[in-house]
Amino acid sequence: MTSPISATADALPDLCGSAPAYVRAIAPYLPGKPIPEVARELGLDPGHIVKLASNENPMGMSPLARAAITEALAGASRYPDGFEAVQAIAARTGVAPDRVVLGNGSNDLLEMVASVFLAPGRASVFSQHAFAVYPLATQARGARAIVVPARQFGHDLDAMLAAITPETAVVFIANPNNPTGTRLEPADLLRFLKTVPVRVAVVLDEAYNEYLPPEERAHSVAWLAAHPNLIITRTFSKAYGLAGLRVGYGLAHPAVAALLNRVRQPFNVNSLALAGAVAALDDTAFVDASYAMNCAGMVQLVKGVTRLGLSHIPSHGNFLCVGIPRTGADPRAGEVFQSLLRQGVIVRPVANYQLPDHLRVTIGLPDENQRFLDALAQALR
Ligand SMILES: *Cc1c(COP(=O)(O)O)cnc(C)c1O
Repeated sequence: MTSPISATADALPDLCGSAPAYVRAIAPYLPGKPIPEVARELGLDPGHIVKLASNENPMGMSPLARAAITEALAGASRYPDGFEAVQAIAARTGVAPDRVVLGNGSNDLLEMVASVFLAPGRASVFSQHAFAVYPLATQARGARAIVVPARQFGHDLDAMLAAITPETAVVFIANPNNPTGTRLEPADLLRFLKTVPVRVAVVLDEAYNEYLPPEERAHSVAWLAAHPNLIITRTFSKAYGLAGLRVGYGLAHPAVAALLNRVRQPFNVNSLALAGAVAALDDTAFVDASYAMNCAGMVQLVKGVTRLGLSHIPSHGNFLCVGIPRTGADPRAGEVFQSLLRQGVIVRPVANYQLPDHLRVTIGLPDENQRFLDALAQALR
């Protein structure tokens, strides 16, 4: 008797081969290593491991969000209703509710934009060292990725403008960018928006918006009125501390929002995430405390790596790319990453972002930052 498994294996080359070549060519996303996996692989005590690899909020989540999520559990047998969350996001950001699109993480919004505007024969433009989801979302639609060389690790807006072709339908801009932490001047962004053809959607990915100084956080929303091709994406995963719940949102022209909603799964954000998001928006004290903690941690890390004689990319996010000097001609970041792991400190290699000589570390609590700095000193010895 043939086992179902071998029958499956025989049919696999045909089945998998029938997937479009552009899907088969996708290089999968590499997440930060989870604590349980590192504990298992290296035989470490999970309680002793520090994870500074995925730009999560080291303070956890807002207590108001936690209470709301606990309360929402009782209603989890019902399908979720995003009405209240859309109203709350609209009120908080100062836009009309018909400009708000809910996402299962802001990653979901990036995918919706790609579904709406990208297809074979079309292209997206984004920067070298930009967020890894832009190439993924582009490739999955069979569209072409136009990658523009970075300038001092940041977006070169003039070059990005020049890279726009007749086939270009989307420009992705991360501000601040992950993994580099670089930030664009609002005036430069606005000039870019005024010059880009209106037929091209400009996605402004603001996953780290809440880590900017308060006076800088609202610029982009004010540009929506005059720029119908602007799509802003934000998330509850970073400063709001809800990464595991998966909730984010997009802000766009109502007609564009309506298009995005056509490809959105009807119930894409679960009821616990919606309850958490609504409560988190109200917890300004938590976001303020997270911002303050991040500012102090950034100073601590920059001082610490500088004292070790290392360079860094000036960052406006909740993470820092640290330069790891080569030994001879060979990058050493991989070896330092492994040494940090063995010492129970998880950071993020960024060689897949064409940054083979850097490691990205998320700003943690003061003692977590110190653990990283001590382990780094040890790794470099
Ligand atoms: C983390 C991140 C996101 C998306 O995170 P979600 O959890 O899907 O909201 C989007 N863009 C950038 C640049 C990020 O770093």
